[in-house]
Amino acid sequence: MTQVYNFSAGPAMIPQVVLDKAQQELKNWDNLGVSVMEVSHRGKAFMALAEQSDKDLRSLYNVPDNYSILFLQGGAKGQFSAIPMNLNLGKGKALYLTSGHWSKMAAEEASKYTQVTEINILHPDTDKLEVGNLDFSDIADQYDYVHYCPNETISGVEIFDVPKVSNAVLVADMSSTILSRKIDISQFGVIYAGAQKNLGPSGITIVIVRNDLVGRAKPITPQIWDYAIQQKSDSMINTPPTFAWYLCSLVFKHLLEQGGIENIEEKNKAKAQKLYEFIDSSQLFSNKVAIKNRSRMNVTFVTGSEELDSIFVEEARKANLQALKGHKVSGGMRASIYNAMPMEGVKALIEFMKKFEAQHSE
Ligand SMILES: *Cc1c(COP(=O)(O)O)cnc(C)c1O
Repeated sequence: MTQVYNFSAGPAMIPQVVLDKAQQELKNWDNLGVSVMEVSHRGKAFMALAEQSDKDLRSLYNVPDNYSILFLQGGAKGQFSAIPMNLNLGKGKALYLTSGHWSKMAAEEASKYTQVTEINILHPDTDKLEVGNLDFSDIADQYDYVHYCPNETISGVEIFDVPKVSNAVLVADMSSTILSRKIDISQFGVIYAGAQKNLGPSGITIVIVRNDLVGRAKPITPQIWDYAIQQKSDSMINTPPTFAWYLCSLVFKHLLEQGGIENIEEKNKAKAQKLYEFIDSSQLFSNKVAIKNRSRMNVTFVTGSEELDSIFVEEARKANLQALKGHKVSGGMRASIYNAMPMEGVKALIEFMKKFEAQHSE
């Protein structure tokens, strides 16, 4: 089979070794003679998997003991609703820091359940996408929580500094940055992420929530999204997506074998740096994000001509570099280089870009 590099933003690449392992034990998981999809989630074998995946994620991401990890359904968008329903902390309002598509969508959905104040944290008057002041400590206390999105998957804007919110509860949509770099979980009240970017397949959503925030949900909260109910039932108030959970558990193991989050972060830094360095040296390609906010996971670029952009995407696809088309709301190109993308994939992309540039520079 020819080597294909898949730059899809999500569902995204899954490590090859994980797919191999899943294939190997597809029909005979845990020596049960059946697949993991065909056993009771409440049975001994699957419960052990669930427990181990909690342990592995805890040790990978340094999740403190006073936090619970929930494995839910409904994607990150489900959490757009679940967050305001669960964080019903008495003030009746929430602050949303917006920096692009996903954080705006989160604010819009939350406004059905709580009173939302939105602050755009992108600098209004620069030609680059750049995140401005992140100190909200003087106003944050008025709100039940402050929500932001550390990595805007579509525009490729990443926020490396954690917003200052004093003692207020900080909530982050980490769908496309989870496990890509170290974070101090204790600074957050809730972190959530759809799995299909950096953790595994779609269909499962990770929520890491501080225990004192559990048990405050509005009575209308669907039980499948009520953190207290799910915490009490080991995320099994209904049948969980067992196969997706299983694949995530394999990814956690694989990441632990890679030497943990520090090593993963170093690899991600090196991949992104190499690609941005090339883009900056190129006469044809450019990136619109301020250097300090350039995403390590989603690298966006354009040629300056929409026509040439589509030719690029098409020719790249023929050269086995897949899914480089930017999101429809932003156009151009996007190379998603999550944990599973090896450096070889980034190098192959750069070689292709060089050739393309040479061919199209007359
Ligand atoms: C992909 C993505 C979402 C949407 O996730 P779903 O699981 O499809 O609901 C939300 N936020 C961010 C930052 C994303 O990258």
